[in-house]
Amino acid sequence: MGWPPGVASPRIDLHAHSTASDGTDTPAGLVTAAAAAGVDVLAITDHDTTAGWSAAAEALPPGMSLVRGAEFSCVSGPGRAERDVSIHLLGYLFDPEHEAIVAEQSRLRGERVRRLRKITEKMAADGFPVDVETVFAMVPDGASAGRPHLARALVAAGVVASVDEAFSALLHNGSPYYVPKADTPAVTAIEMVRAAGGVVVFAHPLARRRGRVVEPSVIVELAAAGLGGVEVDHPDHAADDRALLRGLAADLDLVVTGSSDYHGTNKTTPLAAETTAPEAFDELVSRAVGVDVLAG
Ligand code: AMP
Ligand code: FE
Ligand code: FE
Ligand code: ZN
Repeated sequence: MGWPPGVASPRIDLHAHSTASDGTDTPAGLVTAAAAAGVDVLAITDHDTTAGWSAAAEALPPGMSLVRGAEFSCVSGPGRAERDVSIHLLGYLFDPEHEAIVAEQSRLRGERVRRLRKITEKMAADGFPVDVETVFAMVPDGASAGRPHLARALVAAGVVASVDEAFSALLHNGSPYYVPKADTPAVTAIEMVRAAGGVVVFAHPLARRRGRVVEPSVIVELAAAGLGGVEVDHPDHAADDRALLRGLAADLDLVVTGSSDYHGTNKTTPLAAETTAPEAFDELVSRAVGVDVLAG
């Protein structure tokens, strides 16, 4: 975007959550916190919703830029169950009123409510001091419910000491309480976001602590389907996996991004813990036509 001479090395963080999904800062609080952390460009990327966009835009501090995005809950590929993995795709700068996106995000938020209710009920039936009302009281209207909301209820009830412990002990994907949700086939999500003028980045593809991850061949397939970038520098990525992803990105002409995946106090990672190079950011923006990057 042509960086002013004063900004020698802009800090660009392209993945952050607000209370519109499973972060703990309001959208306005998120952009304020980002400015305080010295972030020059922030992307708001709540799970399966754009509900935080307008409040974040209205509160945008002077000098900061806002990239409007969302994190899409996807499944790596349909019809080959043994290979399918639950993955996240970041969509940036797409038209938020695009019909297919509005419909799919709304469906997914419904799926999220349904499955979180089931997980909570299973745990309550086993004697855990949690109930559906308390969990959903934490989810604002239009926001995406997620396991971190239940994790916080478990912390509040004294069952575990932290959100992280709630996941490692009870809420992880292999837990007996786990209930899956019907995610969007990744290729469908890519086509949808691109049709809405956006660009798609594969979020934390090799975050192994969360469960199974995709084979490199899946990244090759998604690149052929229109994937625009890959999140290489992410707190959940090991050094050797970053090197592998960097090589794949070079081969496939994918933009390399780095981001904190900030979730407020639901995770320990601070804003700008990982960042994106300005040249990579400019390339990403040049691949999108849906909505503009907002300048505060
Ligand atoms: P859900 O969206 O309901 O499937 O829950 C997944 C979300 O939980 C992710 O987006 C992360 O924000 C969060 N999460 C996953 N694993 C952990 C963990 N080990 N500790 C804390 N938060 C986690
Ligand atoms: Fe999350
Ligand atoms: Fe994610
Ligand atoms: Zn995220």
